[in-house]
Amino acid sequence: MSTFYHSTRSRNERVTSKKAILQGIAEDGGLFVTDDLADKHVDLATVCGQGYQENALLVLTRLLDDYTIPEISHCVDKAYGRTFDDPRVTPLTPIGDDWLLELHHGPTSAFKDVALQMLPQLMSLAQGADGEKIMIVCATSGDTGKAALAGFAGIDDIAVTVFYPDGKVSDIQRLQMVSQPGDNVCVCAIKGNFDDAQTEVKNIFADHGLAARLAEHTKVLSSANSINVGRLVPQVVYYFDAYAQLVAKGAVSIGDEVDFCVPTGNFGDVLAGYYAKMLGLPVRTFVVASNSNDVLVDFIRTGTYDRRRPFVKTISPSMDILVSSNLERLLFYLSGCDVELVSSLMRDLAEKGCYTIPTSMADKLRETFACGRANDDETRQAIRDAWDNHHVLIDPHTAVGMHVLSERPREGRARICLSTANPYKFPADVLRALGRGVDGRDGFRCMDELAELTGIAAPRNLSALRDASTRFSDVVEVSGMSAYVEQACARILP
Ligand SMILES: *Cc1c(COP(=O)(O)O)cnc(C)c1O
Repeated sequence: MSTFYHSTRSRNERVTSKKAILQGIAEDGGLFVTDDLADKHVDLATVCGQGYQENALLVLTRLLDDYTIPEISHCVDKAYGRTFDDPRVTPLTPIGDDWLLELHHGPTSAFKDVALQMLPQLMSLAQGADGEKIMIVCATSGDTGKAALAGFAGIDDIAVTVFYPDGKVSDIQRLQMVSQPGDNVCVCAIKGNFDDAQTEVKNIFADHGLAARLAEHTKVLSSANSINVGRLVPQVVYYFDAYAQLVAKGAVSIGDEVDFCVPTGNFGDVLAGYYAKMLGLPVRTFVVASNSNDVLVDFIRTGTYDRRRPFVKTISPSMDILVSSNLERLLFYLSGCDVELVSSLMRDLAEKGCYTIPTSMADKLRETFACGRANDDETRQAIRDAWDNHHVLIDPHTAVGMHVLSERPREGRARICLSTANPYKFPADVLRALGRGVDGRDGFRCMDELAELTGIAAPRNLSALRDASTRFSDVVEVSGMSAYVEQACARILP
């Protein structure tokens, strides 16, 4: 019998993983989860004897068990066959005594590709015989948008609308999005920040009137944000695969515990690591690394989540988030699958802007999760240290992780920092961190200077943006997003 998914807030709606992936978010606004994760097990010895594609097949068939093995195998081929520029897909490389897990070798140079090359394949197979067409609605703090556009462009009977916060993504990130080819895509800036966009996208999904109007044309909305379980599950794979690479390098023996440090925003990436741990990966500590939007650091230290604080614009914009959606899934598991408790916490968050978890749960949280923060100066210093000391070029998000890791005592375990973006996505900030002036230089000039300084070439997908033309220039108020989506459904999802 296949696994059932239900909401973090109730057990009324029980769906297969295909349905959960199609739908994106549960009807009551909760996120899809399954109770029996800990009963599932991924065999470490098997993981350590095989490569990325095989590990993807193993983990995905375990968690999405209403897909057949040939179906998942087809998805893995499409997602990771040729689209990554490294045969190991997510290569592990040394940095001093620690390790970087490079997650940015996909078509858009951010870790979001690992999941967003896979999600469209999973969704396409789940779509089934009833002929429903899907509009993906996606809020992005910078990287998800382009990765979703690249993943869904050209997929039959699915279209995608991306909203990004006007003026709050890097030049390169913006150009990546607004130049995206394809008839089934559109991109729009909003007057607000990422949290505004994400909150409104959740409202749009919960709008029954809109859903009914779209249903008349056999259209439905769905999500490509990491609230979609189809985004989360592919990310579990690289935690296992990183471990296999460590074993292959002789850095650990099978069964040894390791630590992961994860630059965190929406809590999707680090949560995928926690899933891997529940499935049997020997991880001692997940270190949650935040930038100055450090709501998670306070939460882990105090047990109180309080979003009522100023939103800070940083040089690691993909982590500029005050409401980390996927934390809801962690609360569900930490509470022993208590949907009533999760609902009441989420009600507090919506009504008061904060909530406090019970002490026993906070203790359990701190058994596995540690945290730290880096402000922009510390982030720049970490970029500089990585280059000066190790000749490794890292991006500002990865640098937040490296700073946090550097402040922790070494406890004798192998430590892996997730490297979430290619530094050439943020060339001006990286160049400045290395002590160069950037005044008046555009992103491409900075790319050239960075290449000259380091001898490391920019990935082709980024340098080619130089010649890209802008296809999308719409800007709307947050209140206009819903109407924009409805029009886009008529326009690009015929
Ligand atoms: C999205 C993103 C993050 C944060 O990941 P979450 O899953 O949202 O916690 C970190 N770094 C980069 C480069 C990203 O694009």
